[in-house]
Amino acid sequence: MGSQKTKKEEQLLIQELKDSLSQSIDNEFSEAQLIQFLQANVWVVDDAKQQLMDTVNWRKEMNTDRLPVATKHNKLPLLVACRGYKYIEDANFSVQPELSESVIRIANCIGGDCFHKFDKEGHPILIDRTGYHNTKEMGNNVTTAEITNYQISANEFLNRVIMPEGCERAGKPIHSETIIFDCTNMSLWQFHMNAMYHLKAIAEIVQHYYPETLHRLFIVNAPSAFVVMFKTLAKIHVLGSNFQSVLLEYINAEDLPDFLGGKCTCKHMPGGCVPIIAQKSKDKFVATDKNDKVPTVYNSQIMEAAIHDDELCKLSPESMPSTTCYD
Ligand SMILES: [Zn+2]
Repeated sequence: MGSQKTKKEEQLLIQELKDSLSQSIDNEFSEAQLIQFLQANVWVVDDAKQQLMDTVNWRKEMNTDRLPVATKHNKLPLLVACRGYKYIEDANFSVQPELSESVIRIANCIGGDCFHKFDKEGHPILIDRTGYHNTKEMGNNVTTAEITNYQISANEFLNRVIMPEGCERAGKPIHSETIIFDCTNMSLWQFHMNAMYHLKAIAEIVQHYYPETLHRLFIVNAPSAFVVMFKTLAKIHVLGSNFQSVLLEYINAEDLPDFLGGKCTCKHMPGGCVPIIAQKSKDKFVATDKNDKVPTVYNSQIMEAAIHDDELCKLSPESMPSTTCYD
């Protein structure tokens, strides 16, 4: 990616960005945030500044800071299953009255997703049963607005509830995740056109407003066509069926599910490490009349309450990690 910068050159560019921002905007930014946006823009200060300002404006317009996120204290239901974290209890997705009807429809299309522990460097791991996604249903029965809201809420949950623990573990700011796509069960019909439009909409939001949040992506059990199709980027490892030793370089065996070559089984949870969402229609999640038909992930009452209630939006002050995570 272009010419490598020395530490000294980087420090100068960080300071230049900081000075330039202070003339245009009141917000305070951590050094980690400045670096994140500089890296996303190959260290071009003007571009990094533009993207940061766009992000601040977008967050203001969308009121993103007031989106509710599930924590151990507020007991909001999870959007994505979680295993092994301090600030959120282990749980699977289930139908709860606080959720919207749209998020239940989305959950029925997702093959199985789980935030599962941390890698060796302190980055949270998201494991995705990509091969079990019902992309056709996702394309036809879910709107772009619904899937976009879902993605934003999942990002906010990750940043506010799981990343702080990653920072504590690593002893430095952590803002990116390690993702494992397991292609087991994948077939060509999953490349459904409408689903691809959704994917494009999501990718645009993530690239623009959550830059540099991918630490590493492993695509395992990849069909051979896939291995050829993907460009070899340092961050992306496309692996066939012999992936175990590669994953174990980055993730401790006790933190990696056994079906991916590790030792974890999460026996204490129904479905184990990454529950596969029901494939048969009789086993699907069913919304009730408590689940509002709104495009947000939680029902209207929760969304409105979160505007004034900090408890619904962030970790409680007593559980906040030390400030070292944010510089
Ligand atoms: Zn596990």
